[in-house]
Amino acid sequence: MGSAAAAWTVGPARVTVPAMESLPSSAFSGPADIACEVVVVGGGMVGLSLGLMLAGAGVPVAVLDRAPPAALEDDAVDGRASALARGTQQALETAGIWAGMAAEAEPILDIRVSDGQVGRRPSALFLHYDHQEVGDDPLGYMVENRVTRRALAACLADQPNLVHLAPVEVAGVARGRARVDLRLADGRRVSGRLLVGADGRNSALRREAGIRANSWDYGQSAIVCTLGHERPHNGVAHECFLPAGPFAMLPLPDRAVEPAQSDEPLRHRSSIVWTERRDLAPLLLRQDDGRLAREIERRFGDSLGAVEVLGKRWSYPLSLSWASARVERRLALVGDAAQAIHPIAGQGFNLGLRDATALAELVVDSLRLGLDPGAADRLAAYSRWRGFDAFALMAVTDGLNRLFSNNLPPVRLIRDLGLAAVNRMPGAKRFFMRHAMGLVGELPRLVQGRPL
Ligand SMILES: Cc1cc2nc3c(=O)[nH]c(=O)nc-3n(C[C@H](O)[C@H](O)[C@H](O)COP(=O)(O)OP(=O)(O)OC[C@H]3O[C@@H](n4cnc5c(N)ncnc54)[C@H](O)[C@@H]3O)c2cc1C
Repeated sequence: MGSAAAAWTVGPARVTVPAMESLPSSAFSGPADIACEVVVVGGGMVGLSLGLMLAGAGVPVAVLDRAPPAALEDDAVDGRASALARGTQQALETAGIWAGMAAEAEPILDIRVSDGQVGRRPSALFLHYDHQEVGDDPLGYMVENRVTRRALAACLADQPNLVHLAPVEVAGVARGRARVDLRLADGRRVSGRLLVGADGRNSALRREAGIRANSWDYGQSAIVCTLGHERPHNGVAHECFLPAGPFAMLPLPDRAVEPAQSDEPLRHRSSIVWTERRDLAPLLLRQDDGRLAREIERRFGDSLGAVEVLGKRWSYPLSLSWASARVERRLALVGDAAQAIHPIAGQGFNLGLRDATALAELVVDSLRLGLDPGAADRLAAYSRWRGFDAFALMAVTDGLNRLFSNNLPPVRLIRDLGLAAVNRMPGAKRFFMRHAMGLVGELPRLVQGRPL
């Protein structure tokens, strides 16, 4: 019997956010310690990507985070792997970030969606997306977040237009008519013309600006861990809808398992995102490795052969939250600070990256025309551009979770028939595939693979 690996629960759904003082512009006089064009608060995957995109286009930018820089390279900080849509990959490639991730990215060739019950075979009615139905390119890529974070950290070293201030705490903010000024807890002052809130779902900047956050708790947690398995996954991502919520088996590159033995064959690996009732998640996380693997097999079946749990397990409480406005005077919200969605479709970071690419494009175009990138009309353009995409994905992910996270026989029948019907409609299938690839709607230049 294996041992129970360390289990990590990341952040309660509701947390107390330390207050940032709102200050009048008169509180600041004289030159700032760091003066730039754009100040990004929050150097997570979205905030750092935005900072690097802007800096790469020649815009002076400061990215501030309260976590130390070493956290970016610490594998213990984030146990997730993310499905990156084709459009996200194109944006990261064009911005020069993808080169540091490509070797550890697993192409998603097919997606198989089915309805199931614990301990039974999945329904015979299912939906199958094959990348060849929309071209030769993969539908997207699976990349472990630790790989993405390391790639972002590596890019920082080569970027003279970007100042990365971490760890720092923002104590006060003054969003004036012409500029925004930040006072840090260590006494330093940072100023710019545009402030970006990329500080995650519990955004303190959003609160400082008086923007209301709407939210509801799903009462579910996502259990995340990496599995080794007997048979290859062949680039297929599985999403199986179980009564407690979706169970995703997502392909990762084969890899030697630490400590690597030179004569040991590479292990087939996948990442799981297993949605469970919040009260059951701690019990499951406490199981030893062998029992947890059997529970996973009861839910997923044996198509990948025997599975084993590799390394730590993680748990993420799930909720939906969205800001009632995405802009305020000299402030724009991006990523989870603007909207944090259910991971059912693996789209939260993709959505946040589209926020970042759209905002970067508006800032760069404004500066080229000699306009103020933090002016109200520029921010209104950003808000209009991003509103529909965000609203549509919030509605779709919330609706899917409600439709599929229950066990009522008539609802099961209707949704199974729905999956099978879409499977037989090539036009609808192609549309959904292009949507999942992040290639639908008014796309920012970077998402199209064009430079800023
Ligand atoms: C289980 C799970 C699976 C997921 N899978 C996928 C997937 O497959 N594909 C996908 O696209 N998305 C996925 N997502 C969603 C995705 O992980 C998030 O949308 C994304 O990480 C949000 O990034 P962010 O940079 O906006 O916010 P965060 O990652 O929350 O980063 C916020 C940053 O701000 C910093 N910060 C916070 N407050 C302050 C402050 N006051 N001052 C300074 N810094 C501050 C934090 O230290 C952090 O670095 C998943 C989510 C979950 C929960």
